Amino acid sequence: MTATSPAARPGSSAQPGPAPITRPADALAALVAGNRRFVSGRPEHGHDVAAAAATSGGQQPHAVVLGCIDSRVPLEAIFDQTFGSICVVRSGGEVVDRAVLGSISFAVSALGVPLIMVLGHARCGAVAATVDAVRSGERPDGDLGYLVDEITPAVQAVGPEDPDAAEKAMRVHVTRTVRRLRDMPGVAQAVAAGRVDVVGAVYDLDTGWVEQLP
Ligand SMILES: [Zn+2]
Repeated sequence: MTATSPAARPGSSAQPGPAPITRPADALAALVAGNRRFVSGRPEHGHDVAAAAATSGGQQPHAVVLGCIDSRVPLEAIFDQTFGSICVVRSGGEVVDRAVLGSISFAVSALGVPLIMVLGHARCGAVAATVDAVRSGERPDGDLGYLVDEITPAVQAVGPEDPDAAEKAMRVHVTRTVRRLRDMPGVAQAVAAGRVDVVGAVYDLDTGWVEQLP
């Protein structure tokens, strides 16, 4: 166990903060509840400087969420999470590279997060670009091509000519990414021991709902 010791949560001097969330199921429940608050228009957390200062002494986040860079999917907001609650990693199409893997690894091994979530979303530009690239046979040059290469297997799996290829491929891509993270060194053992879970989910741009994938 390499998690940091339960850090003091100096949220208030009068009362101790809430107990840290250390079980995967509890962490998932916290995200689900936060998303419900967001959707219902009753978020608990503002992002004011007092909340930032309350966690300045240490952190024990309960999840690391890997999401897309899409500006419409701000992760702390859609899960109604506050300072110190979740680690966030974002890349185009939530594509994994070494920096992403290292960051998730750090969250699990050094910060002791019990939950890894991969979050895709509807109408993802990176997935749409990949569908276009596969259909046309024209792979983008440079680093954008890396994103396309990483999403291409999901597009191939659903069939690029499927009219709903982008939506279906996005879900397959999330599921494939979940499997990849599950097998990461350091994560696989923690998953086997029940200390960590890896889940996939999809965000609906219109409603704000996060749907967990099976
Ligand atoms: Zn996206």
